[in-house]
Amino acid sequence: MSYEEQRRLLVEKLKREGHIKTPIVERAFLRVPREEFVPPQLRHRAYEDTPLPIGKGQTISAPHMVAIMTELLEPRPGHKVLEVGTGSGYQAAILAEIVAPGEDKGAEGHVYTVERHPELAEFARGNLRRTGYADRVTVIVGDGSLGYPPEAPYDRIIVTAAAPRVPPPLLEQLKPGGRMVIPVGDAYEQRLYLVVKRSDGSVEQVPTTYCIFVPLVGKEGWPDDAALGWGPL
Ligand code: SAM
Repeated sequence: MSYEEQRRLLVEKLKREGHIKTPIVERAFLRVPREEFVPPQLRHRAYEDTPLPIGKGQTISAPHMVAIMTELLEPRPGHKVLEVGTGSGYQAAILAEIVAPGEDKGAEGHVYTVERHPELAEFARGNLRRTGYADRVTVIVGDGSLGYPPEAPYDRIIVTAAAPRVPPPLLEQLKPGGRMVIPVGDAYEQRLYLVVKRSDGSVEQVPTTYCIFVPLVGKEGWPDDAALGWGPL
């Protein structure tokens, strides 16, 4: 079966299960080739609904989790988005398809994505270049638990690693009216939080589904050695 056919079947499954809810997210999933964001030897498993290893003990998230997070985030054309935890670059490409869709040159959204492992940042840059997203996604090497102040504030912030709490710098870098999606918790229990900053600056934090992510390691995340307790996912 071709990758296109496998992609279409996965999207149908994610819709049936209620993870993909909106046409804007469905379109992005149909356009981004996940097989280009996994290591070459795992391409045959690219359309399984499961996380896959990408090196450095990290993973590309399962498609259903990417769908859940993208729907909660509500990205729209023209948005400036910050992602913390680039990994393979797949989630960043999905967001780029929404905030800066190829055919609508009027929507000048952009995705800034921060990765702490230089080797993974390079892996993601290559994947994004090959698939045509390099002009809409900027990959930065650094500690994303501190956000990325040079491009702040952001309409949307998505964190794809588990934090002990919502990092204050990320809250500061979110626009009034903005939304953030972030897993919060430890190696044993995490909840995906939707954080909404109202126009008066007040903040609401809504716990949603349980989830399992690798740790956010950094100044406003977990200390490096806490990652050792995480174990293989
Ligand atoms: N969004 C990714 C994708 O689409 O492939 C999956 C992300 S993976 C589950 C989590 C990533 O967060 C890992 O690549 C890890 O190295 C990174 N990470 C952990 N702590 C970080 C930090 N403080 N700053 C930036 N990246 C971090």
